[in-house]
Amino acid sequence: MTRFDHIIVGAGSAGCVLANRLSADPARRVLLIEAGPRDSSPFIHMPAGLAQLVNNRRLNWNYSTEPQANLEGRRLWWPRGRVLGGSSSLNAMCYVRGQREDYDGWVAEGATGWDWDEVLPWFRHAEDQVRGEDAWHGTGGPLSVSDLKHRNPLSQVFLDAAKAVGHPLNPDFNGVTQQGAGWYQVTQRDGRRASTAVAYLRPARGRPNLAVMTCALATRLVVDHGQVTGVEILQGGRPRVVEAPAVTLAGGAINSPQLLLLSGIGPAAELEALGIKVVLDLPGVGTNLHDHVDYCVLVKCTQPLTYDFGKLEELRVGLRYLFTRDGPGSSNIAEAGAFLCTAAAKGGRPDVQLHFVPAQLDDHGRNRLPGHGYTVHVCGLQPKSRGRITLASTDPTAAPRIQPNYLADPIDATVLINGIRMVREILAAKPFDPYRGAEVFPGPDAHSPGALLAAIRAKAETVYHPVGTCRMGRDMDAVVDPRLRVHGIEGLSVVDASVMPVIPSGNTNAPTIMIAERAAEFLGA
Ligand SMILES: Cc1cc2nc3c(=O)[nH]c(=O)nc-3n(C[C@H](O)[C@H](O)[C@H](O)COP(=O)(O)OP(=O)(O)OC[C@H]3O[C@@H](n4cnc5c(N)ncnc54)[C@H](O)[C@@H]3O)c2cc1C
Repeated sequence: MTRFDHIIVGAGSAGCVLANRLSADPARRVLLIEAGPRDSSPFIHMPAGLAQLVNNRRLNWNYSTEPQANLEGRRLWWPRGRVLGGSSSLNAMCYVRGQREDYDGWVAEGATGWDWDEVLPWFRHAEDQVRGEDAWHGTGGPLSVSDLKHRNPLSQVFLDAAKAVGHPLNPDFNGVTQQGAGWYQVTQRDGRRASTAVAYLRPARGRPNLAVMTCALATRLVVDHGQVTGVEILQGGRPRVVEAPAVTLAGGAINSPQLLLLSGIGPAAELEALGIKVVLDLPGVGTNLHDHVDYCVLVKCTQPLTYDFGKLEELRVGLRYLFTRDGPGSSNIAEAGAFLCTAAAKGGRPDVQLHFVPAQLDDHGRNRLPGHGYTVHVCGLQPKSRGRITLASTDPTAAPRIQPNYLADPIDATVLINGIRMVREILAAKPFDPYRGAEVFPGPDAHSPGALLAAIRAKAETVYHPVGTCRMGRDMDAVVDPRLRVHGIEGLSVVDASVMPVIPSGNTNAPTIMIAERAAEFLGA
């Protein structure tokens, strides 16, 4: 078949949700196009397998940013899923929605109808909460939200230490309040990863009206007199065109703007400079890129309790998991965390998030350190710095330029410095006494604001939440309207993390799934 009623580009967190919801109507012929392969690697489905996925070139776009002026000119590594399930197939599974104020703030940015009271029912609609239903949580939805089956004892020590220094314990980061320290709930079902490929696409795969193309790269949109009519794709080295009167881009915050730009939809001057024929001058495409920049405080552990396993232990963990779906293999590694207010926090809203990792995490786990240790990620939740995605070339197989402009606004560094201090206070508390070894990062000599800033410049990394590059709104720079239709092109919509006007205060998978659930209704599902 080459003609469909609806084409979805990208089978990631959002794309798989849409594929399920739109194909529920047997009369609608839906095509889902994914650049990566099927999700057959067992390391995707065993939660702790995420450590094995970091260096996988086949399932990962492996992007790098432009040199970061405020981070010693470093290019930062940006992993993104390139496989069925997209980044939900290789993320850390923390289930976090953000704060009421985030969504109320979207409305202030022109995203009418996306305030907290409007979006909460869609979070609940997606959800199958193991703890049961309540005012915040839903049951019976496709996305399983679970408590971890296995918890490392050091994660409990982290919570005891947080409590010891006065932070409240919070049993549910998505409940009454986000503030406090607690266990993350995870997108897992019975100890297996619940990617959107598993939760949404698998149940729909048997439908005769849903076609799924893998290893197929969308290279350009076909637009005729302001109406999208199809998508050019490259599969097995061969170009072809698939047609539909409705196309939704769900390629994520890097690839969706890239495909618009390749198709001549974006800032006219920028497109003309590259020799691309301008289909629509839409200045906001690729702008408003922002992300959570993150620093890892790393301390050696004096007892062999962590997940810094040797090869033999890894094998044992794998075998135990194979037979029981339990043990460290079922852990997402970032088991516990906290949402805290630093001195810079406004209106009582937590402004930093912590992920406690009972293992040594350096360079995203790509640099394995000897011995045992524990790491606390700290990121600022409401970054002010903004960057953009631009084309590096007109070749659709080439990576675009990613310029997040980390720490361009000095407040982002101040929040991180405050956050590192709060992490150190927790790690210095009594419950860690039996385990505490030497601090590796920032290191015992880094205490003054200047030294901490230098440490951040040398080591800060992404915590994988880029958003905002096809922002929804009503102004001249908005790319989609609040119903996620691309301004000025009939039949074209964008549904993924790129449409968020402002990053939510937390991890971005659940908000992306919520957006897709909501969009499916807009698209007539
Ligand atoms: C390592 C990592 C850890 C993370 N941890 C967490 C976490 O613990 N909790 C959390 O909430 N969030 C986490 N996130 C973030 C979260 O997973 C993402 O925000 C979310 O998955 C984004 O969804 P999306 O639909 O916008 O894009 P994606 O899920 O990235 O999907 C985009 C899909 O489109 C495909 N695609 C792109 N371009 C094309 C094209 N031209 N043609 C065909 N297909 C294309 C891609 O291959 C991909 O499959 C993490 C992300 C990463 C990378």
